[in-house]
Amino acid sequence: MIKINENFLKLQAGYLFPEIARRVNTFKDQNPQADVIKLGIGDVTKPLVPAIVKAMKSAVDDMGTAQGFHGYGPEQGYGFLVEKILECDYKPRGVSLDKSEIFISDGSKCDTGNLQEIFGIDNVVAVQDPVYPVYVDTNVMAGRTGQASKDGKYEGIVYMPCTAENGFAPELPSEQVDMIYLCYPNNPTGSVAEKATLKKWVDFAKENKALILYDAAYEAFIQDDSIPHSIYEIEGADEVAIEFRSFSKSAGFTGVRCAFTVVPHKLKAYKKSSGEAVEVNPIWNRRHCTKFNGVSYVTQKGAEAAYSPEGQKQIKEVIQYYMNNASVIRDALSSLGYSVYGGENAPYVWLSTKDGMSSWEFFDLLLEKAHLVGTPGAGFGAAGEGYFRLSAFNELDTVKEAMDRIAKIS
Ligand code: PLP
Repeated sequence: MIKINENFLKLQAGYLFPEIARRVNTFKDQNPQADVIKLGIGDVTKPLVPAIVKAMKSAVDDMGTAQGFHGYGPEQGYGFLVEKILECDYKPRGVSLDKSEIFISDGSKCDTGNLQEIFGIDNVVAVQDPVYPVYVDTNVMAGRTGQASKDGKYEGIVYMPCTAENGFAPELPSEQVDMIYLCYPNNPTGSVAEKATLKKWVDFAKENKALILYDAAYEAFIQDDSIPHSIYEIEGADEVAIEFRSFSKSAGFTGVRCAFTVVPHKLKAYKKSSGEAVEVNPIWNRRHCTKFNGVSYVTQKGAEAAYSPEGQKQIKEVIQYYMNNASVIRDALSSLGYSVYGGENAPYVWLSTKDGMSSWEFFDLLLEKAHLVGTPGAGFGAAGEGYFRLSAFNELDTVKEAMDRIAKIS
């Protein structure tokens, strides 16, 4: 008899985005003429920049020649891309890493989801609440949790509330936690962590022999230079943290797929039986090479072009375009009396609903009265109730139109 992995049965239905789609489709069926604006999804809207397109086309041409053909590449990524990452992402921030600490992959979703599997099943997981759902769901699949309760929280996971009251910066857990997921700039709240905040986490992880899984997928949106772009800007973080980066939002690669993960050699995990320290990097390397066959040459050539002078100029212009949208959203909502957060170093604006309205009530109001789709905060976790996420990924005119529509109903 084939037995199912019952951990998968603990998963709650992928509720948030299917439920949004269901409500939007029902509304459209009933109002076929309505011009619905979507500021809900976290996907980019601008095309790839010319420098990247040119590099990818040229890489396709290489592939059509005997000398330029590339079959299976190194699972960890081509040296040409890894070198650019070290040189352009880390060196200018004072971070020195070795090539063998970088693992190129096809996305931070996979990396943040897969990394947990090299750690013991009895590790206690801590997440920010609200949270990018991948961290939680993949730990549920692995069997690190019990069942979900009515408020959607899984037994065994430590949820760290991030609300306006604590400035969206969670308190340090009072219980022993072993795997701490931190996402900065944060999806969905748009908050960032200053150096002192990250140092607090690094110190905590050291004291507790815990691991920080640091998701910096939105690093490129940081505008304030005092905010760390990498957790390794904090001394000693290379002993306790793994960092995730992605080209998805920085270079418009959501449909191309390229990212990387940093696993420093100094990072150790421990044998439960003896307490003996084990280096994590070779274990992730083993896992990566066993289950992954590398990102395509064409894709990595495109990612490399993002670091060329013209590539940098072009992708930064796109990021500024989105950040201008974010400030248009922030200004419009603030002037309408909403409490607005994020959107200054992240492409997401997080707002409090008014008059005690729930996240989903606000969603319905915007959809029905303004024909506007956003994302209800409660969908990201219990502490997101009463909040709402608007994304800056859209055309400026559309964003302005969306804000005019909110003004009319406020
Ligand atoms: N991490 C966070 C916080 C995200 O919001 C997303 C995508 O929206 C990802 C990771 C996934 O990135 P990728 O496209 O590299 O898989």
